[in-house]
Amino acid sequence: MAIVGKSPEEIQQHLNRLLEYCNNWGLSVNILKTKNMVFRKRGGLLPSEHWTYNGQSIEVVNDFNYLGTVFNYTGNYALNQEHLTGKALKALNVLLCKCREYDLKPKILCQLFDAFVAPFLNYASEIWGYTKSKEIERINLKFCKRLLNVRKNTCTASVYGELGRYPLYVHRFVRIIQYWLKVVRSDNIITRTVYRYALSDCVIGKNNWVSNVRKLLSEFGFGYVFDNASVPNEKYFLCELKTRIIDCFRQKWYRSLDSPVLFLYKDFKTTFGYEHYLDILPKSLRLFFCRLRLSVHPLRIQTGRYNRNRIQRDKRYCLCCNRSDIEDEFHFICICPCFNLIRKKYIKRNYYIRPSVLKFIELLNSTNRQELIKLSLFVKEALCIRRTTLNIEI
Ligand SMILES: [Zn+2]
Repeated sequence: MAIVGKSPEEIQQHLNRLLEYCNNWGLSVNILKTKNMVFRKRGGLLPSEHWTYNGQSIEVVNDFNYLGTVFNYTGNYALNQEHLTGKALKALNVLLCKCREYDLKPKILCQLFDAFVAPFLNYASEIWGYTKSKEIERINLKFCKRLLNVRKNTCTASVYGELGRYPLYVHRFVRIIQYWLKVVRSDNIITRTVYRYALSDCVIGKNNWVSNVRKLLSEFGFGYVFDNASVPNEKYFLCELKTRIIDCFRQKWYRSLDSPVLFLYKDFKTTFGYEHYLDILPKSLRLFFCRLRLSVHPLRIQTGRYNRNRIQRDKRYCLCCNRSDIEDEFHFICICPCFNLIRKKYIKRNYYIRPSVLKFIELLNSTNRQELIKLSLFVKEALCIRRTTLNIEI
């Protein structure tokens, strides 16, 4: 049972009434399991903030787990998110461990994640999910990076782009608004009263759940929906809202491709969406091709960026050959004479006899199974040769 009150006296009154009720019906309350929480911005408790039940004092706590959601006295849900990520991480590890036995396609794994791990991360998110929450997204990204077999510090924009996955907040925001529509429509007297109180607090500028709903709706251009507190067709409206949240994300995503790390990526990745090579290539080769596309490789165009030995972009020459060419993906696949032998074996003549960036982009976007397998084998073997030539220890 949860008892809510606006002043210390009110709470004590409610507790006395509960005692009276329990005595009449022969019930007893476990005082050790009964906790009190004072919601406040900061600071300690006032002397008047002390409550008793049947002569015994009730402990005042800072956090309380109510039906699986951790509430903090400041109204902040950071602790709750930590609690949820802990649970989700366990579920994710079980999922990845079980899936190791089967060679599942990344698309299937994404569906499994959404069915088994995401529910932990979205638990009761109607209440707390109005921020983009890096903490929660961390698990989604961790999963995506594991799926692509890339390093933790890989640029997140390319990871979302390659899998065509959206951050979890897209789903959360829609759920909040769906729940809000349910609350404003409700006939339940308690729900209506609590909502009325929260709304009047929101109107005078206090921060609460209702003010967050208002902020969310106006952020996506639906401020009028909050003012009207209803929509003609809920299903249609929620679809429109979701599309708009996704559109905003995509806009931001296109902008983030301007990063110097994704110099090549933005040239060939023109639309956001799942890449079919992930399903076409076998697991053992997928990572070589994926790392090449996402610029997660040891070529100097990337390693030359690193702070310690930073080299100017136009000076990041290939050390395997003496052509004074920048060692980028194009040089590596189509030009560098060190790999001529295996190039003949794996890559179509058309791509390296008269090489051009346009042809190269076409090759990276290929959906031909044989071509993709050969290209991945080329990357695998060329990296090996490169390591031996440069005498780099693994
Ligand atoms: Zn070279």
